[in-house]
Amino acid sequence: MVEKISHIGIAVESLEEQIPYYRDLLGLKFSGTEVVEDQRVKVAFFEVGDTRIELLEATDEESPIAKFIAKKGQGVHHMAYQVDDCQLAINKMDGAGIRLIDTKPRVGAGGHKIAFLHPRSTYGILTEMTEEHE
Ligand code: ZN
Repeated sequence: MVEKISHIGIAVESLEEQIPYYRDLLGLKFSGTEVVEDQRVKVAFFEVGDTRIELLEATDEESPIAKFIAKKGQGVHHMAYQVDDCQLAINKMDGAGIRLIDTKPRVGAGGHKIAFLHPRSTYGILTEMTEEHE
């Protein structure tokens, strides 16, 4: 079902502060920033081979990222798997009793269909299923 790791999401306090680390020290290709209103985040993407690192900065205090950082501090926030069909993946997980955050795909960064699975059902890892076919 999963084709590859799409990206690893990392919660950060400041994109401005951390971008130079990923771009200049690690030397990753920076592919720009984007605000995802729906999730109250500003994201920055870096390419690593054919997968990516996604830095997430909260745009306000109600953002899930602000809440995550307040609780756990900065660090790895979620793992995103690229799947062939997001709705099909959701249905499969639902059928297996996995707790869903999204019962239907919503639009994430890059306009892709995404859905999150609850970390309580996925052994502690907030998991995103993303459909990224052009
Ligand atoms: Zn993500």
